[in-house]
Amino acid sequence: MLKKNRLFTPGPTPLLPAAQIAMASYGAHHRTAEFRALFTRVLADVKEFIGTQNDVLVLTSSGTGFMEASVSNLTSPGDRVLVLTAGKFGERWTALAKAFGCVVETVTAPYGETFSLDEVGRKLTPEIRCVYVQATESSTGARHDVEAIAKLVRALPDTLLIVDGITGLGTTHLDVDAWGIDVIIGGSQKALMIPPGLAYGAISERAWQRMETTKSPRFYFDLRKERKSAAKAETAYTPATSLFAGLAAALDYVRQLGEGNLAAGRDTLIANAELCAAMTRAGVEALGLKLFAPKSPAAALTAVTAPTGADSTTICKRFREQFGAVVANGQAEMKGQLFRIAHIGYYDYLDTVGVLAALEQVIAETTGQAVEFGCAVRAAQEAYKSLGLR
Ligand SMILES: *Cc1c(COP(=O)(O)O)cnc(C)c1O
Repeated sequence: MLKKNRLFTPGPTPLLPAAQIAMASYGAHHRTAEFRALFTRVLADVKEFIGTQNDVLVLTSSGTGFMEASVSNLTSPGDRVLVLTAGKFGERWTALAKAFGCVVETVTAPYGETFSLDEVGRKLTPEIRCVYVQATESSTGARHDVEAIAKLVRALPDTLLIVDGITGLGTTHLDVDAWGIDVIIGGSQKALMIPPGLAYGAISERAWQRMETTKSPRFYFDLRKERKSAAKAETAYTPATSLFAGLAAALDYVRQLGEGNLAAGRDTLIANAELCAAMTRAGVEALGLKLFAPKSPAAALTAVTAPTGADSTTICKRFREQFGAVVANGQAEMKGQLFRIAHIGYYDYLDTVGVLAALEQVIAETTGQAVEFGCAVRAAQEAYKSLGLR
């Protein structure tokens, strides 16, 4: 049978056709009125997409570049910071903060789980300069309670909260300004449906003030310099111009989803991810498989524990070779133990039902056990019907 290349990975995600066309035809120089107009429009739309009054920036880098900027711009060597970590992306915060000489305290949760808020509260002392966390931990499929964490952090006047929302934005409700998130970060290859290469984020006034006194080295990711350039509708260095054109088209699409209202379109995208995730969880459980993060599952992706007798590396290989579907294996020490199906961005009903139908075949063939064909698909259809969302 033919195989269409389909991404079910939590980044990169499927590309929006309108964005692909916009990228292919864009050739403007970045120091021109044409690009300045595009850039201005993109910044305004990103601001609406995030849902914030804070200044936003779009950097030419992968998401990790903005994560690095949130350490290098907001800390000085020797600063005490708190990292909440329950997976590979949480561990990235720890490694980054250590690379810039911070004294790193952590609250950890086992892979697949989320933090004890009591423990977060105990570790949060006024000496903590910054708290770093993920909204959704893409390596385990767990969702963290950013609202509750923000409430704890906001009780301290001088502690900044930095949220990696790279798979959270566009899949999860995050009220950045009301909750008091100082920096929130997104990436182009996730809910915004374009290729990797842009990172975006919103930065609070409190965080801008912090940058006046911090001393960690920075150059390419000097956010104050980018802010100055952005005030003139420019970037400090050469931006990925065609990705900006793609981003503008993607944000137009989100606005169309909201019938002219970008924030409403973003909420539609979030509801879509929630529905795809609910259908997928129902299908996976109907097949007798176990969710890797059952207590606090993210809408961004569903992580599934490999069944006994089957390695998730074999499961992912089978998906790819038999169906052209790229499902993500576990990362690092989780490799072989779990596989991940994403719901971030441009996925619909047929994608969701289709990947579950393929999963039935893959499980039957990799475990050698009897599978009742249609059971996962049926459970997903029932979830779709009972949730009543469209
Ligand atoms: C994808 C992702 C990142 C960023 O990774 P890059 O490869 O640098 O774009 C960071 N955090 C989370 C939670 C992610 O899913």
